[in-house]
Amino acid sequence: MTTQRPIRTRFAPSPTGFLHVGGLRTALYAYLLAKKEGGTFVLRIEDTDQSRSVDGAVENLLETLAVTGIEPDEGPRLADVDHDMDELHVEEVGEHGPYIQSNRLDVYKHYALQLVEQGDAYPCFCTPERLEQMRTEQQKAKQPPKYDRHCLSLSEEEVVRRIEAEESHVLRLRMPADQTITWEDAVRGTVSFESNLIDDQVLLKSDGFPTYHLAVVVDDHLMEITHVIRGEEWLSSTPKHLALYNAFGWEPPIHVHVPLLLNPDKSKLSKRQGDVSVEDFLDDGYLVPALVNFIALLGWNPKSEQELFSITELVEAFSLEDLNKSGAIFDRDKLNWMNGEYIKQHDTMDLLMHAHPFYDEKGLLEEAAKRVGASNKMDQIVMEEIAKSLSIEQTRLEKLSQVGEETDYLFVNALNYPAEDLIWKKSTQEDTVLYLNALQDLLSERPEDTWVTDALEKDVISWIAENNWKNGDVLWPLRVALTGKPKSPGPFESLWALGKERSLERISRAIELLAA
Ligand code: GLU
Repeated sequence: MTTQRPIRTRFAPSPTGFLHVGGLRTALYAYLLAKKEGGTFVLRIEDTDQSRSVDGAVENLLETLAVTGIEPDEGPRLADVDHDMDELHVEEVGEHGPYIQSNRLDVYKHYALQLVEQGDAYPCFCTPERLEQMRTEQQKAKQPPKYDRHCLSLSEEEVVRRIEAEESHVLRLRMPADQTITWEDAVRGTVSFESNLIDDQVLLKSDGFPTYHLAVVVDDHLMEITHVIRGEEWLSSTPKHLALYNAFGWEPPIHVHVPLLLNPDKSKLSKRQGDVSVEDFLDDGYLVPALVNFIALLGWNPKSEQELFSITELVEAFSLEDLNKSGAIFDRDKLNWMNGEYIKQHDTMDLLMHAHPFYDEKGLLEEAAKRVGASNKMDQIVMEEIAKSLSIEQTRLEKLSQVGEETDYLFVNALNYPAEDLIWKKSTQEDTVLYLNALQDLLSERPEDTWVTDALEKDVISWIAENNWKNGDVLWPLRVALTGKPKSPGPFESLWALGKERSLERISRAIELLAA
């Protein structure tokens, strides 16, 4: 199915307080399609279920989208922050607004009444008690739960009388009888539902708010949406929507139902098995481009070996035809690997800006400031210390929340470790003392201005060879002396990061420890 209209896609979240990674994926696909086709990506806030709406949720959602870079061309967005008030303001861009559904109640009412006039919808006065009783009876009789159309048989006079008496009521869609509702889904192919099995859905609630079904159809039509991209969980709603398009005489958009996100055990992705909100991932030190790259591949197959995609490459490569039908497993190990790749490729100084808050959170800025005698943790000299730590651990990190885990030895003054750790498994205590003494002599010769990783490595390695020693016998004790740990970054980068004075001090201390 093709459409001649300019491509317009939308992301239509309900403001529940956080952005689920599944929501980010929907937003991303809608964004990618729009960008690829030179179209427009619209954001619409679906807040008609007031019981689900959370204060500040819209602002929070807009902030998260802004951070991820998946920003709408049309819809609500954050206006300049009012510093005095310390408040975020939401403004709207675009000519199809308002884009927040609770500001469009008149529009829905208008269209709902049009349906009543046409005979495609009808008022229903049934009380919750009656509906409950009906459901219990249906259950007993093993019938599918469905409104029994009690109010469809009310006479016109009775309807008018009860409405005039302001009796509480809803408006229901009158599902057409004996029809097979079919559409060509861009992911799932031909999908059909029997209209007789579908409930007469409530369109307008007694409080004047529309239900999702009415609002989504009216808005997608008025906002000229050409592609509705959403999670598979909405599949069974689509026949109701198509019945509405048909009743209005509107052309339906192309439907694109993307597969569910699953835990490794194939259950629906849930918080019980780890974070699910975009904010949580960012707080844990995942980089935006890595998260976006990973999310893009959950349900989309680029049909190539390439795994790392920048957002520009995603726009270029994306196509609806390459979306998968089957559920996509949210493989956290793969995300960690991918994030590690992005961390590795980052320029260290630039990465430092992202990593800085994580060092701060762990109190490492204060520790470094204390150690170097800086007056506060924002001093340039503290930044330099942190940069050293980062350049050592950059290739080892899977996420920024791990900073300092392997480089903690840089931040302390004295190390605490058992003397035996210094001895390489095939070596002896005596030889270890000999190597450390020799290393101390060698290293004290090197001037401070050439105290850099590569030069130190070249020196030490060729010197070991000249002495006919084995690398392991000498480098193991050196590394433990510097870091206090058997598993730690390499000795040369540690020599560099600690500097000459601290390195020599640590070697002497190791010698003392072995002698004791
Ligand atoms: N408001 C729905 C949600 O919360 C949107 C579903 C759709 O895209 O039609 O996901």
